[in-house]
Amino acid sequence: MHRSDHSVRRRFSALRCSLYSGLVVPISEKALISRIRRASIRHSGVALGIGDDCAILRLPAGHEILVTTDFNLEGIHFRREWHPPAPVGHRCLTRGLSDIAAMGGEPIAAFLSLAAPANLPQTWIGNFTHGLLALAENFKITLAGGDTAESPAGILVDIVVVGSVPRGKAVLRSGAKPGDRVYVTGDLGGSAAALGELRAGEKSRPADYPRHFFPIPRVAVGRALRERGLASAMIDVSDGLSTDLAHICEESGVGAEILAPAIPRAFVGRKRKVVDLFHALHGGEDYELLFTAPPGRRVPNRIADVAITFIGNVIRDQHVTLISETGRRHKLRPQGWEHFRR
Ligand SMILES: [Mg+2]
Repeated sequence: MHRSDHSVRRRFSALRCSLYSGLVVPISEKALISRIRRASIRHSGVALGIGDDCAILRLPAGHEILVTTDFNLEGIHFRREWHPPAPVGHRCLTRGLSDIAAMGGEPIAAFLSLAAPANLPQTWIGNFTHGLLALAENFKITLAGGDTAESPAGILVDIVVVGSVPRGKAVLRSGAKPGDRVYVTGDLGGSAAALGELRAGEKSRPADYPRHFFPIPRVAVGRALRERGLASAMIDVSDGLSTDLAHICEESGVGAEILAPAIPRAFVGRKRKVVDLFHALHGGEDYELLFTAPPGRRVPNRIADVAITFIGNVIRDQHVTLISETGRRHKLRPQGWEHFRR
């Protein structure tokens, strides 16, 4: 039966009948739901997940709720011809988890709303769900509800991720002070480099570009930085270093000087080639953490098995300067994702 009308959409937090009742694709809806319910582990913060009108979340005493929401739109955030469905599911959830990480929080549950065109092969949805659930399982969070609909064109995914943090302890973008030092986790530019290849018509294998296809959000690092009181301000690198650093500077009312040779650049492709500086500065979707720390605090060069690299200093002057290897100074304008993508 074809029910395309939005009025027949069903919330799958209210999953009495079928998860994909809005889709023409006949399946196996039941199989999909039971897969989600089976695969979805129960985080202790989820008192009630899929199966009723609402999910019920329970916070540890003295904690606050973190909520983040992200659209993932076909043609904007992914392309079916470039991105297999499992990485699309993985990347959708990474975006939310990475935001929780950037606050120093603990993720609890995700909520997935999916609109798909009627002709979307069932295997696409199955593999998408699989990619998303595999990451959810790694981070021990529950897929606790969502909604489905038929889309007139293209796949639209909205992900809400909920987490918690001890009251008053979330690491904000606004805490950087002149004199603080600037650090970044992992390396940068790997995701944008993959996009460059795909755009040039090359075939990028997920194995050669793990940071593009299967980025791992830095939840453990974010939590450790918050617990140890090391980070004065933090953001995840979703739009590109130049743009995300500008966000910290703007919110904190400061500027920064970044040392170009210090920026850790990703090695990508079959030949493990280092990405160029442009990708490292402006390419988005690396989902690393960018943070500042007071000058007196010793920041380890590894946290939770992830490299931490010093890349510059926070200054009073409210603009961002890039200092090249030869000591030349350039104004670093935010040219992150939105710009880069075109
Ligand atoms: Mg973010």
